[in-house]
Amino acid sequence: MALPQFKRILLKLSGEVLMGEQQFGIDTAYVDRLAAEVVAVKQTGLEICLVIGGGNIFRGMAGAASGMDRAQADYMGMLATVMNALAMQSSLEKLGVATRVQSAVQMDTVCEPVIRRRAERHLAKGRIVIFAAGVGSPYFTTDSGAALRAAEMKCDALFKGTSVDGVYDADPKHDSNAKRYDVVDYDTVLAENLKVMDASAVALCRDNSIPIIVFSIREEGNLARVLEGNGVQTVVCD
Ligand code: UDP
Repeated sequence: MALPQFKRILLKLSGEVLMGEQQFGIDTAYVDRLAAEVVAVKQTGLEICLVIGGGNIFRGMAGAASGMDRAQADYMGMLATVMNALAMQSSLEKLGVATRVQSAVQMDTVCEPVIRRRAERHLAKGRIVIFAAGVGSPYFTTDSGAALRAAEMKCDALFKGTSVDGVYDADPKHDSNAKRYDVVDYDTVLAENLKVMDASAVALCRDNSIPIIVFSIREEGNLARVLEGNGVQTVVCD
């Protein structure tokens, strides 16, 4: 499916891609590579909002499974996303691109709070805005944060860069017959519980007609290829 020309996108990266080949944490060299890919597509004139997950550091569900209070653990997960946002900011700014981090959990000495109109101004000035801490509430994920920011920033599409190259009808790691969708509609994703993003994120995108483009960010140059229409991806739309 040929993708339309986009003016503004939201790029959501799962925290685990920041690990590179590591088992945990942040591989700075790998984040530098991801940043270079983002800068390359920005140079085509694209406006970019970024959301990064926190799964490479801490997930609330894992904390809750080990006996922690769920909400408390979720706040720790949100803090992990701020760490990732700062790491990405550092890598982007090494490449000479101005950025701002806006966190849904206020942290005045570290970054800005989320202020939509200010974020608009940053984009107008050519800055990349990195939205951290998801929606700022426990029991949500950064997928929901990404859908929310994509809606309020009026992004043309939500790109989800992850470790798999799209959405499959079964888990490709466990089923060799699993087939990748080129295009799939929101309602099928929700009805069949396909692994794209959590249901609230998919529903928010559906209700605001924001296409979700799922692709692998692990292969070098893939973000640009997908945007040029030469990549492998699944498009979730109406
Ligand atoms: N989180 C949260 N509310 C939000 C966003 C994130 O509570 O709005 C917490 C939640 O515990 C989650 C963790 O932050 O597990 C890390 O985010 P996520 O799991 O979405 O990261 P990803 O899987 O994309 O790396």
